Amino acid sequence: MSAPSAVLEDGHREIVEAFETFVRRELAPLAAELPETEDQVPYDLRAYVRKRSAALGFYAGDYPEELGGSGMPFTAVVLLHHAAGRSGCVLAPYALAGSDGPSPLLRNGTPEQVERHLVPLVRGEQTRCLALTEPQAGSDAFHLTTTAVRTGDQWVVNGRKTFVSNAEHAGLALVVAATDLGDGAGPTSGATAFVMPMDQPGLRIGQRYEGMSGEPLFELLLDGVRLGPEAVIGGEDAVGAATALAIDSLSRGRLVVAAMCNGIAEHALRLGVEYARERRAFGRVIGDYQHVQEHLVTTRAEVEASKLLTLACARLVDEGTESPENAALAKLTASETAVRAVDRSLQVHGATGWVRGHPLEFLYRYVRMTTIIEGTSEVQKVIIARSMGLN
Ligand SMILES: Cc1cc2nc3c(=O)[nH]c(=O)nc-3n(C[C@H](O)[C@H](O)[C@H](O)COP(=O)(O)OP(=O)(O)OC[C@H]3O[C@@H](n4cnc5c(N)ncnc54)[C@H](O)[C@@H]3O)c2cc1C
Repeated sequence: MSAPSAVLEDGHREIVEAFETFVRRELAPLAAELPETEDQVPYDLRAYVRKRSAALGFYAGDYPEELGGSGMPFTAVVLLHHAAGRSGCVLAPYALAGSDGPSPLLRNGTPEQVERHLVPLVRGEQTRCLALTEPQAGSDAFHLTTTAVRTGDQWVVNGRKTFVSNAEHAGLALVVAATDLGDGAGPTSGATAFVMPMDQPGLRIGQRYEGMSGEPLFELLLDGVRLGPEAVIGGEDAVGAATALAIDSLSRGRLVVAAMCNGIAEHALRLGVEYARERRAFGRVIGDYQHVQEHLVTTRAEVEASKLLTLACARLVDEGTESPENAALAKLTASETAVRAVDRSLQVHGATGWVRGHPLEFLYRYVRMTTIIEGTSEVQKVIIARSMGLN
C-alpha cells in the first residue's frame, strides 16, 4: 500500500530502513526464541537490546552526540517508534528509549546531573523510573501528598507513590514531591523533582501490581529519605518548578506514544488484511464481504489520518513551534485509533485471533494501556478544550 503519510517520511528513510534491518536481522531471531505464552521479556534480554541499539545509534537517537546519542531530529525518532510498533517484533520497543530511558526532566538537570545520571541512560547502560502518581493523585498529578521538607541544606522526603513502571530494575528514581521550605508554612503550591538512587536509604518498593499485558507496576514507599541539594533536578533554581519542567517534556512523550500506537495499528491492519485475503467462509474469502472490508477500510483511513497528524506534530517539535494541545490531539487520536484497530483486526480473525499466543491476543491486552499512560484520553480532551477557550 502506498500511503500519503510517506511524504512526511522524506529525509529519514535511510535511518528507518537501517532500524528495520536491525529488527529483522538481529531482534526477530531473538524474539522467535521466547516462549509463546510468556508476555514478559526477560530483563537481561531487554538490557542487551537497549545497549546494542545504543551502540548502533538508534536508542535515544535525538540526544546530542556528546551525551551518547546520535543528534537525530525528533521526527526521525517518531518514525523509529512507528517502525518498532509496525514490525510486530516484541523486542523492537526495547530498542528505543521509552519511559525507562533518558528523561527530558534530566535534560534540564545541572551539568553534574547530566554527566552522572543522564549520560548512562542515553547510552542504555542504566534505566530509571518516574514516581509521580500517588493513590490520590493520578490525572490530577500535582495534587501531591508526598512531601520534601527542607531542613538546613538537606531535604527529607516522605510519601507513597503508585503504579511506577520499571521500579524493580531501575538504577534510579525520579521522584516528584510537594515542596515544603521548612519555614513552618507547610507545602507550597510548587512541586520539586528529585533524582535518587534506588538503593537510597528510606526508599523501598512496596506492592507489586500485575498488569494485563504482563508488565508489572510498583508502589514506592518513601520513609524519611534524606537527600542533599545535588538531588534537586535542575538545582536550586528548580525548587518548586517540577510542574513547568514536566509540562515541557510531556509533548515529546505523548508523540512517542502516538507513534508507537500508529505502528501497532498498522501492524494490526496488515494482519487483518492478510487473513481476510485467505480465510474462506460460505465459499468465498472473507475479504469479499463488505462487513469485513468495513473493519479494515475504516482502520486504514483512521491510521493514515493519525499518522499524518503525529508526523506533522513531530515536525513542529523540530521547528520549535509545537504546542501541548497538538501533542494531545495526536496522542488522543493515535491511542484511540490503535485500540479500535486491534479490536477490529481480532474480530476479523474470529477465534484464531482470540487464542493465547496469537499476536492479536497479546496486542489486544498490550494496546489498552495507551489511552491511560502519558495522560488519559479524557485528560487530552481537557487540554484540547482549554486551547479552544472552553473549560
Ligand atoms: C501501564 C501503566 C504505566 C504507568 N507508569 C507510570 C509510571 O511509571 N509512573 C507514574 O508516576 N505513573 C504511572 N502510571 C500511572 C498513570 O500515570 C495514571 O494511571 C494516569 O495518570 C491516570 O491516573 P489514575 O489511574 O489515577 O486515574 P484517575 O485520575 O483516577 O482517573 C480515572 C478516570 O477519570 C477520568 N478523569 C480524571 N480527571 C478528569 C477530568 N478532569 N476530566 C475528565 N475525566 C477525568 C480519567 O480520564 C479516567 O478515565 C502508569 C499507568 C499505567 C496504566
